[in-house]
Amino acid sequence: MDFDDTADLAEFRAEVREFLDQHATLRRGDDSDWSRHGASTDEEVAAEYRFRCREWQALMFREGWAGITWPVAFGGRGGTPAQQVVFNQELARYDATSGFITAAQALVGPTLMRHGTPDQQARYLGPLLSGEEWWCQLFSEPGAGSDLASLSTRAERSPATGSGGRGEWIVNGQKVWTSNAQFADFGILVARTDPNVPKHEGLTFFIVDMQSPGIEIRPLIQAQGVAHFNEVFLTDVRIPADHVVGDVGDGWRVARTTLRSESSMISGAGQATPFGAVLELARRRGVTSDAVIRQRLAGVYADELVLRWMGWRTQTAVMQGRHDLALHGSLLKNFFTRAFQRRVGLALDIEGPEGMLWADAEGDGFWQYQFINQFASRIGGGTDEVHRNNLGEQALGLPREPSTDREVPWSATTRA
Ligand SMILES: Cc1cc2nc3c(=O)[nH]c(=O)nc-3n(C[C@H](O)[C@H](O)[C@H](O)COP(=O)(O)OP(=O)(O)OC[C@H]3O[C@@H](n4cnc5c(N)ncnc54)[C@H](O)[C@@H]3O)c2cc1C
Repeated sequence: MDFDDTADLAEFRAEVREFLDQHATLRRGDDSDWSRHGASTDEEVAAEYRFRCREWQALMFREGWAGITWPVAFGGRGGTPAQQVVFNQELARYDATSGFITAAQALVGPTLMRHGTPDQQARYLGPLLSGEEWWCQLFSEPGAGSDLASLSTRAERSPATGSGGRGEWIVNGQKVWTSNAQFADFGILVARTDPNVPKHEGLTFFIVDMQSPGIEIRPLIQAQGVAHFNEVFLTDVRIPADHVVGDVGDGWRVARTTLRSESSMISGAGQATPFGAVLELARRRGVTSDAVIRQRLAGVYADELVLRWMGWRTQTAVMQGRHDLALHGSLLKNFFTRAFQRRVGLALDIEGPEGMLWADAEGDGFWQYQFINQFASRIGGGTDEVHRNNLGEQALGLPREPSTDREVPWSATTRA
């Protein structure tokens, strides 16, 4: 496997560097980097971080660097997955990020491009890519995570015409773990529209305006002291009929597009903690001559090369909407979480006893935050176990997991 750039990629990399040099400064790897402050418990600092993420995304959009693999017709650059990976690698060296905006784009973009109506694409994709409008993902529920298709949130057609004669749906239920719902303008929502058919068949995918009456958002504070995600309660929320994405009852197929690109997106999020950052830390701490640390650094570097290669393959599958994406996504996510664990574990070991501290640690506890974050990365976007099941079935051809509720109407199933 050749990990060196082709001539085309080397040229592209030089172009990326030129853009980044012009608009951002190199990361210093300490507290003075604004791009490190996404998890700050100081609300003012966190608000400033969100503001700068939005500014950065708007700049990339204006300069033609947003949505590198998005088709030009949807406002993207029409580039290749390899170019996206190169861009991410270079960006990781600079004090700049679009933060959670990137995540929302990865979830919503491919889904609307593949299943949205031309009107939906024209209305939402531009502001999504420019970072002007923020989105959240309203999928998981207290009783439906890994087994998402068993979800209970109900959408019923309103008997009244509503919304200027277009018809509407009324939604009731509860979602949970909704990342960044407190800042979102819109959400992608999966709800049950027919309880009398098997669980996968009675679901519909909606776009919901997060300012709609009847939506209550309650932040959940995590171990790091910040509220990354929320509970979202929906009470008689009205959604216009033309906010359905795909067909009524075909929501599972639409949601699968979102879920597939989600695992790839999460695996790309490791850019915040690249190999170079660990190496820098080791240099600052004067431990690069330690034989054990050198060996572990080499392992982390090898992980990064493997991830780069897997990232290309998976991004290619995302953009081509290929059916083997589930396989690529599961492989990538499983490898990514292990590699993330090795990387942040090494960083804390390099910090030595200070690694046990938080507030007093170097870089405002950046590595401490990432260390805790690695556990969340093994759950969000599908747990390690669920992705391994996927690999067992799809890569190894093992028998499908037994299920007692796949063929029966959802209303006849027993739920937690
Ligand atoms: C940081 C973070 C951000 C998130 N953001 C969002 C978001 O924005 N929107 C959203 O909708 N959701 C979000 N989630 C929710 C996430 O998708 C779910 O947590 C995840 O799918 C697991 O579901 P669960 O928490 O209900 O766990 P469960 O499904 O109850 O699983 C509990 C345990 O059982 C294991 N398990 C379950 N089924 C199987 C099986 N068949 N075989 C083997 N083991 C199994 C799991 O691996 C896990 O260890 C987020 C989660 C995290 C951690």
